[in-house]
Amino acid sequence: MTRTDTDILVSGGGIAGLVAAAGLAHRGFRVCVVDPVPPVQTEEDPEADLRSTAFLQPARALFERLGLWEALSPEATPLRALRVIDTQGWPPQERIRRQFEPADLGEPTFGWNIANWRSRAVLARHLEGLENVDLRLGVGFAALLTRTAGAVVTLTDGSRVDAKLVVAADGRNSPVREAAGIGAHSRTYGQSAIVFSVAHDLPHDDVSTEIYNAGGAFTTVPLNDHEGRPASAIVWMNDNARSAELAAMSPEACGAEATLRSVGVLGQMRLLTPRRVWPVITRTADRLTARRTVLIAEAAHVLPPIGAQGLNTSLHDVATLLDCLGEDPGAPEGLERHARIRGRDVTVRAGVIDLFNRVCRSDFDAVVRLRSAGLRAVHDIAPIRRGVMRAGLGATD
Ligand SMILES: Cc1cc2nc3c(=O)[nH]c(=O)nc-3n(C[C@H](O)[C@H](O)[C@H](O)COP(=O)(O)OP(=O)(O)OC[C@H]3O[C@@H](n4cnc5c(N)ncnc54)[C@H](O)[C@@H]3O)c2cc1C
Repeated sequence: MTRTDTDILVSGGGIAGLVAAAGLAHRGFRVCVVDPVPPVQTEEDPEADLRSTAFLQPARALFERLGLWEALSPEATPLRALRVIDTQGWPPQERIRRQFEPADLGEPTFGWNIANWRSRAVLARHLEGLENVDLRLGVGFAALLTRTAGAVVTLTDGSRVDAKLVVAADGRNSPVREAAGIGAHSRTYGQSAIVFSVAHDLPHDDVSTEIYNAGGAFTTVPLNDHEGRPASAIVWMNDNARSAELAAMSPEACGAEATLRSVGVLGQMRLLTPRRVWPVITRTADRLTARRTVLIAEAAHVLPPIGAQGLNTSLHDVATLLDCLGEDPGAPEGLERHARIRGRDVTVRAGVIDLFNRVCRSDFDAVVRLRSAGLRAVHDIAPIRRGVMRAGLGATD
């Protein structure tokens, strides 16, 4: 049985875990990353995560600081504006449409959209080139023993790693969270998000659109052209029964429903990828740290996919962790400071997104009227508009 020694073990090589590992290595720590599932190299791979992430402005700042942006930027499509359309009934009738512009905040874009499977592949390649990173793909976390001075982690291949700190980035059902004895509170909505990419007739002009109707938000996120035609990623939230119905339809029928649901904002839609259904939940860990352990990303918080908050919130975890850790990365003072800063932001963000999701999916006349009036007020009153946009980009004060 092999036994190695490192400063930090990162459990989970999803996007958040890989960015955390790059950041911790950048700070000079020796880092070991484990994940049972290696990144895929093509979109056609059945394991490919077909979701895309709209990385907002602060994410780019972090990527630049860690030397990751150069490798990621060729894959990125800019988000030059956010259009919000409120609709009611079926087929959806448009009630109000507003567009939010980053120029209002003095920025050229809100962020950049990149397919998840691509980000993961690029990040893993970056880590492979770093001397102080031991990247172990195909092997996972199995067990945890913590003491005051360090942690001993057993991996699924039976090997052991001694570390001063264990970072749990191993997803919504985090095995490290469980091993550390940290509980989590979940809220379910009977709702799921169906995800796929489409080609469409009209150009997206690098604008992302959120369209509200019963069941939840329908979001289009601009992608690079596909075979010379404009393309977008779709995240379509529905009650579970409707998501199952859409997933079972022929691609042509689903494209026609998507065209109807999008009030034709991008013209006719044609599916380019398989469909994948994700349950929509809010889940927050009861604590963000335990002895020699810290939870980040979906191990710590899962949010409904609205307003590109999920992974962007996770990158705030990474940035804060990098600022808080001292020479001994698992020392309690640094972990407590991290938990104080991130705990506050995660609680507020989870509460706001939960409420927002409930309002967005309602078809009650009074709520729909309130929703339209709210959108009008948020957009048309400049100081509110700018405040909401700043909060959406991740401002925490
Ligand atoms: C439909 C949808 C659309 C979204 N769109 C956006 C968006 O536009 N913008 C945004 O910011 N967020 C978005 N999100 C949220 C975002 O996708 C998630 O926050 C993010 O993918 C989760 O990243 P993660 O690294 O925490 O978890 P994961 O990506 O789940 O990674 C966890 C990793 O842990 C690994 N693992 C599991 N078990 C073990 C083990 N025993 N040992 C070691 N590793 C293990 C897994 O293999 C996996 O690679 C969206 C979410 C959904 C559902």
